[in-house]
Amino acid sequence: MGYRGRFAPSPTGPLHLGNARTALLAWLDARAHGGALVYRVEDLDTPRVVAGSMAQQQQDLRWLGLDWDEGPDVGGPWGPYVQSARLDRYAAALETLRGRGRAFACTCTRKDLQKLASAPHAGEEGPAYPGTCRGRYTDGADARAQAGREPSWRFRVDAGLVEFTDRVLGRCPQDVLRDTGDVVVRRADGLYAYQLAVVVDDLAMGITDVIRAADLVSSTGRQVQLARALGGKPPQYGHVPLLNGPDGARLQKREPRHTLAGLRAAGADPRALVGWLAHSCGVSVRAAPASPADLVEDFELRRVRDAPDWRAFPFRE
Ligand code: GLU
Repeated sequence: MGYRGRFAPSPTGPLHLGNARTALLAWLDARAHGGALVYRVEDLDTPRVVAGSMAQQQQDLRWLGLDWDEGPDVGGPWGPYVQSARLDRYAAALETLRGRGRAFACTCTRKDLQKLASAPHAGEEGPAYPGTCRGRYTDGADARAQAGREPSWRFRVDAGLVEFTDRVLGRCPQDVLRDTGDVVVRRADGLYAYQLAVVVDDLAMGITDVIRAADLVSSTGRQVQLARALGGKPPQYGHVPLLNGPDGARLQKREPRHTLAGLRAAGADPRALVGWLAHSCGVSVRAAPASPADLVEDFELRRVRDAPDWRAFPFRE
């Protein structure tokens, strides 16, 4: 099968320039490979979803000169392309994991787990889950009966190193059991977790290459394990640097000078923006105005480096 890449934005507000740069790189990599690009809406975290955001994000990416071959607005054979319409797939995946002895019910509360937060090995996402409910209940009904509440469901991760070769970062060995422990795949309130949905969908949609921001690299080891536990082949990953604002601060969705929508409303030229975004990560030598299509011929993902030059940003006040 040929290259299949994807954009997978969460419709939780306007896209900022970092999201735009990641989307540009995903688009360029797909087009440089003559590949297909899928637009998937990751709207499972319902409390964070903002009405109208999906349409706004799509308009802004199109304004920038990006397009996609499959997605909620254009259809395609691998849909639906909105995660909230794919809950039956996540339920089936959880059943598969349970059938293989790879998922278990967990009744630990947030408070139980927070007590461990001062443990010496607590990682960036808090302490690793210590395995409290592994083997504790026979099934969900048993957990409910014993604990008197609805359980969450966790994926029982493998011990030892999982290693993948990232197209930008090179070899990435990760110890998932030590760093995060067993992964929540369905929350006690019934919401399926991002970690499960993203793996199920990348497999179901035949995604071969994932270009996404480097803040997700720490999730990749568990996603590789999940894909394998579901009997699938994980995609190749390329984690691209995050774009920071002045002084290294994170870009803000609330700051119009940081968002595509805000810059567009202020009359920015999308070609100038694309040229700057490509230059800021090493894709092009100069920041000359360009459309995404102009950059395809010379594109190489390995040129991407962590050198955003915010000071040269053409639209900064
Ligand atoms: N939906 C995620 C986000 O917007 C991206 C997930 C992914 O690329 O794996 O941050």
